[in-house]
Amino acid sequence: MQKTLVILKPSAIQRGLVGEVISRFEKKGLQLIGMKMIYLTDEILEEHYAHLKDKPFFQRIKESMKVSPVIVLALKGVDAVEVVRKMAGITNGREAQPGTIRGDYSMSVQENIVHASDSPETAQTELERFFSTTELFNYPQLMHPNIYAND
Ligand code: GDP
Ligand code: MG
Repeated sequence: MQKTLVILKPSAIQRGLVGEVISRFEKKGLQLIGMKMIYLTDEILEEHYAHLKDKPFFQRIKESMKVSPVIVLALKGVDAVEVVRKMAGITNGREAQPGTIRGDYSMSVQENIVHASDSPETAQTELERFFSTTELFNYPQLMHPNIYAND
């Protein structure tokens, strides 16, 4: 079992795609173990997007992530990190495969609807960045046998 972090970016909030995107994760069989709406700050964005801090578009990304609140989700499932990355699609919405979230809903590199953790290590750091321990829920997924069977 893995846990991963998803952020529904301002592009998802502004375009009314929140239900649509959360619904995809639910229908896939990922368990929702945390969810809240928050405003991101420069401080948290500089940490979260540290790998982009020297890029010319860094300031623009930060601004775009503060246009509205975002929704952070914690999802749990077998291989959840990779499953969710695949569901998100590649960074550029114009090039992302149809059937993926970005491929279906985005025409942009920057305004690409969702963030998803890119490795189990990153996921743990990112979950700790956005959720306190009391905001993450451990409860039985009653449909577990129907979702996974034995493998
Ligand atoms: P991700 O893991 O697919 O989200 O991609 P990255 O970690 O490389 O970049 C983080 C986010 O920064 C992306 O989801 C985009 O919103 C944004 N971004 C990445 N590359 C560019 C770029 O070349 N231009 C702009 N404006 N934004 C970018
Ligand atoms: Mg990334």
